[in-house]
Amino acid sequence: MAERILVIEDEQKIADFLRRGLTYEGFTVEVRLDGETGLKAARDTPPDLVILDVMLPGLDGWEVCRRLRAAGALPILMLTAKDAVPDRVKGFESGADDYVTKPFAFEELIARVRALLRRTRTVEETIARFADLTLNVTTREVTRGTRKIDLTTKEFDLLYFFMRHPRQVLTRELIYDRIWGYDFGGESNILEVYIRYLRTKLEQAGEPRLIQTVRGVGYALREE
Ligand code: CA
Repeated sequence: MAERILVIEDEQKIADFLRRGLTYEGFTVEVRLDGETGLKAARDTPPDLVILDVMLPGLDGWEVCRRLRAAGALPILMLTAKDAVPDRVKGFESGADDYVTKPFAFEELIARVRALLRRTRTVEETIARFADLTLNVTTREVTRGTRKIDLTTKEFDLLYFFMRHPRQVLTRELIYDRIWGYDFGGESNILEVYIRYLRTKLEQAGEPRLIQTVRGVGYALREE
């Protein structure tokens, strides 16, 4: 059964971004736009995890966090303002398990979400495989056959995204949304640049191409 995530966030743009991304990853997502109704939703049908914004109308995120915490051991991931260090301290004091600072890329968030959910689960899935590619999510090691491949953080995130959705055509829009985040605007060729980096590294020993271009749409991880 799909794990349930409750998102309590009053900013519609971010709430939609989270709903879209988390649904795509196979979670059941519920969104509440303020603290009161968020708290009620969490009590009525306890989710597997809560993503909680700090700045909310009415009851703020800290108060919601304290009340949720008092009610049980639900994992809570807080969304805080950029670089607000006192916020982090306050977050942990009110019982948050982890936090992500805004603005964030979806891949940063999903890594934290999975880590928190893993703590409450027994089965861990830390290795992703496709063809002769292996990606270890825990150690961040990537190999093709026996050859070890060094990737930057963004390259790793991009490859991991492909490996979670093998043989699917991922549109440029979706990839931007997921790897560069909701704050990433305008025309850019940064994705093409990163695809080129990845291909260069993955095909260094003359191996066949695994990241295919789907003309006019995007890219897909599949064998030629
Ligand atoms: Ca807010």
